[in-house]
Amino acid sequence: MGETVIAEMTWEQADKRMKEARAVILPLGSLEQHGYHMSLDTDNIVGGYVGRVLAERTNCAVLPVVPYGQVWSAKDFPATISLRERTFIELVKDIVISLEHKGVRNVILFASHWGNTAPVKIAARELLDEQGYSNVYYLSYMDLKKHGDGIMETELWNGSGFHAGEIETSIVLHIKPESVDMERAVCEYPQAPGDVNLRPIPWINFCKSGIFGDAAKATAWKGEKFLKNWIDDMVRLIEENIS
Ligand SMILES: [Zn+2]
Repeated sequence: MGETVIAEMTWEQADKRMKEARAVILPLGSLEQHGYHMSLDTDNIVGGYVGRVLAERTNCAVLPVVPYGQVWSAKDFPATISLRERTFIELVKDIVISLEHKGVRNVILFASHWGNTAPVKIAARELLDEQGYSNVYYLSYMDLKKHGDGIMETELWNGSGFHAGEIETSIVLHIKPESVDMERAVCEYPQAPGDVNLRPIPWINFCKSGIFGDAAKATAWKGEKFLKNWIDDMVRLIEENIS
């Protein structure tokens, strides 16, 4: 049995490991459309893989991925399931409260679905305010341009947006290629309404494929290189800040 994957341990092994690990990592994914070419569990594939690698490299332990998330933006696409923000926050808080009762040293909330990043931060704030937990950290996609520099060929959507495009598709091509059908990968840079940042507008109103970016430019090589930069950076952040 592994040293990092809590779900594969007996309760006695997990109890010991959770207490001695630097942190327990909770990956937070989604069941969300990822274009015509990737499966609904894309964020869970990424969360499970990256969570495990992070745990192995930083003396952490990792919990199973939470497979549902806050997917408000894409919730009207067929087959996409979204939790209300409050439901998601309470779910995260309940898991953390349970972990804290087991005597863990730290908790890392790892949002592998971008929509989870805002509610994850709220959950951590409320856990500090209401429970006094100052050992709850959060990580997510970050510094996309820096980590993709010299690797990715296409622009982010509107300068910073991404979904099921070159970056995400490349990552999954590297870690689970059987979940990608490159023959159906397309390029779409949706034309958003002018007031997209002034009021809530679901993606279905202005995006056809569900993609924000160019999925057709993805390769496994790009995914491997991008992942290395991203994971190296998170390992550094964990080692420098969490003990
Ligand atoms: Zn995704």
